[in-house]
Amino acid sequence: MTELVFRNDAYARLCEARVLRVVGRQVLLDRTVFYPAGGGQPGDTGELVTPEDLRLRVIDTVKGEAPDEVMHVLADDAQAPPPGTIVTAAIDWPRRHRLMRFHTALHLLCAVVQAPVSGGRMAPEKAHLDFDIEMDKLVATEIEDRLNALVAADTPVEIGHISDEELDAKPDLVKTMSVQPPRGQGRVRTVRIPGVDLQPCGGTHLARTGEIGPLKVLRIRSEGKRNKRVTIAFAE
Ligand SMILES: [Zn+2]
Repeated sequence: MTELVFRNDAYARLCEARVLRVVGRQVLLDRTVFYPAGGGQPGDTGELVTPEDLRLRVIDTVKGEAPDEVMHVLADDAQAPPPGTIVTAAIDWPRRHRLMRFHTALHLLCAVVQAPVSGGRMAPEKAHLDFDIEMDKLVATEIEDRLNALVAADTPVEIGHISDEELDAKPDLVKTMSVQPPRGQGRVRTVRIPGVDLQPCGGTHLARTGEIGPLKVLRIRSEGKRNKRVTIAFAE
């Protein structure tokens, strides 16, 4: 099992860790600041720095076989450090911060467009959600204005938990039809933006909505009968 530092502190950029196991080019650590791909958020990139000051490039982060196992995928030319090695694990912070800004922005988009979410994804340059809604109900300027008002309100983002039973009693909390929160551990992590949005989510989020910065709607496109895609980007 890996101690998931990012779960309690999304702003942690680096941590010391011990190599537990190496599988091919994938390194399992006992703790990490690297978020593994999941819930529409890509895995972190960055580096593992060895005691000899070797910088091993991490090109992706994925979930391991067991729950809470995080595998750091090394670049082709990197020699994996043997188990027991103490390394400094450091994420590419500018990239992750953009992903955190987009992830938090997508929660706002969930609140702005009142329709079931049928999919979603974020990248460092843009992010989208797919809604099960009629095309003519999606007006780019309206969505943009309401998003930017929620950003300007600079509302704090609260991380909490609800029990499996509470979640079962409130199925409408799960906005994304394609992503079901993990159950069976007794409780599920939630992300609440007071007065705006509450949903189960394991991703990395900003502390306040103002940190997202100005947003624009890049495009609105039909991706099928039940998928109307709203893509957003930073306005700067
Ligand atoms: Zn989230």
